[in-house]
Amino acid sequence: MARDYMTRFHAADGTVRAFAVSSRECVEAAREAHDTYPVITALLGRTLSAAALMGWMMKDPCDLLTVQLQGDGPAKGVTVTADSHGHVKGFARVSDVELPPKENGHLDVGGAIGRGTLTVTKDLGLKMPYSGTVPLVSGEVAEDLTYYFAASEQTPSSVALGVLVDTDFSVKCAGGFIIQLMPGTAEKTIDVIEKNLKTLPSITQMLSSGMYPEDMIERALSSLSPVEEERHSVSFSCDCSRQRVLDTILTLPKKDIYEMISEKKPVEVKCSFCGTDYIFETDELLTEIKK
Ligand SMILES: [Zn+2]
Repeated sequence: MARDYMTRFHAADGTVRAFAVSSRECVEAAREAHDTYPVITALLGRTLSAAALMGWMMKDPCDLLTVQLQGDGPAKGVTVTADSHGHVKGFARVSDVELPPKENGHLDVGGAIGRGTLTVTKDLGLKMPYSGTVPLVSGEVAEDLTYYFAASEQTPSSVALGVLVDTDFSVKCAGGFIIQLMPGTAEKTIDVIEKNLKTLPSITQMLSSGMYPEDMIERALSSLSPVEEERHSVSFSCDCSRQRVLDTILTLPKKDIYEMISEKKPVEVKCSFCGTDYIFETDELLTEIKK
């Protein structure tokens, strides 16, 4: 299986743009980091795949994107952040959710998240962060993002995402695409895309049959002269470090830190994004706080 990567296309004289990703290793790394059950692997994996593409859409290298789903289902919520270089990280509030499959045999991702909201935040360097929130349509992630793009960014889009979990819980394949209509897209172009998408197999069917991200886009935009512009790697990676975690502890009120120290037990902090455990001995905290 090819390593994870994204691809970017334009078509129909630049009135259509499209992004696709294959993200198996990235989603598998997330599963291992958080020990997620299949329905959460799918929920988190779909969100990671979409966020990687949305992060890549941002122009400035310092831009940071966060996608958050919050709901009243057993998963409670999922948070994913992506930069514009294909680095994504994320977690679900609850990792060990078990739900019966849906009638069609698929994992019940919508049931795991329940009713709630989707929020996209773009931290654009020095400028004010942009944030948009929409109600969840189905909680299946792709439909929710399609609605978000229409309602919040006024960009008609087609989002498709898929994660196939194997019987041993590992990730068999994962990925997706985002196709967007730019202002001035001709009616007949829209008709062609709609017709193409109607006969398009699901993301997991396409990926498990050996198709690559560019094959999915070429099929979705067939007869619209799709042109591939660029490819980029994607990985699950976290920028946390022992020092950064320590700095965060030291921002707490001093009396709280002294309280931790008085318990005479090492202080354990787990990075919620990648699951790494950081342990600080009380002596170290005492030395740091006196600095
Ligand atoms: Zn981390």
